[in-house]
Amino acid sequence: MNKYIFNENKIVIASHNKGKVKEIKNLLKPLKIEVFSANDFNLKEPIENGLTFEENSLIKSSYVCDYTGIPSLSDDSGICFSDLNNEPGIYSARWAGKDKNFDLGMFKIYESLKKVKKPTYDCFFVCALSLSWPNGSSITVSGKINGKFSWPPKGNLGFGYDPIFKPFGHNKTFAEMDPEFKHSISHRALAFKQLVTLCFPKLEN
Ligand code: IMP
Repeated sequence: MNKYIFNENKIVIASHNKGKVKEIKNLLKPLKIEVFSANDFNLKEPIENGLTFEENSLIKSSYVCDYTGIPSLSDDSGICFSDLNNEPGIYSARWAGKDKNFDLGMFKIYESLKKVKKPTYDCFFVCALSLSWPNGSSITVSGKINGKFSWPPKGNLGFGYDPIFKPFGHNKTFAEMDPEFKHSISHRALAFKQLVTLCFPKLEN
């Protein structure tokens, strides 16, 4: 028997990011369980001092689970550029500054790529998802989507770095795509598919 099957009637989404919480709540709706977010518990954010997306997502889910005593699901994600040694990577949110100004973050990437000799403009988004239980067990999965840097930023349908990312096989940026379509092919969708198979088989169709 798979010990990671989710049988509880409550879950906390370990994030203060309204966009992520909304997207994850929607995905979990068919389970008919109570879904909370970190905001419902007045929780501070833990120090994310992991070296990978996977480590940071586990830090977040176990912190929220320890604090609330309820199974917790977290997401850590970002964009990586091969020409920049995979930066900004786990620092994607930080490159946008304290005010989370993604115009600034995108411009910093553009300026950094200008300094690279013979850039490939190859890049990828990664999403790690962790689910932690009060008995101390946890599971982490991740999804990745490859694409190319696109400048100037285009589209206003997404968030974060969506306007500068064109996934391979598509000639629109993530921010120019219908959000439902983006959510069906994204790094987050790929990670969710794995989590559904392992933990939420009832959501498989
Ligand atoms: P986190 O909240 O520490 O995981 O920060 C991840 C950052 O990566 C976000 O603030 C976004 O800027 C960026 N990011 C992650 N996923 C996406 C995406 O699907 N589109 C655009 N930006 C993303």
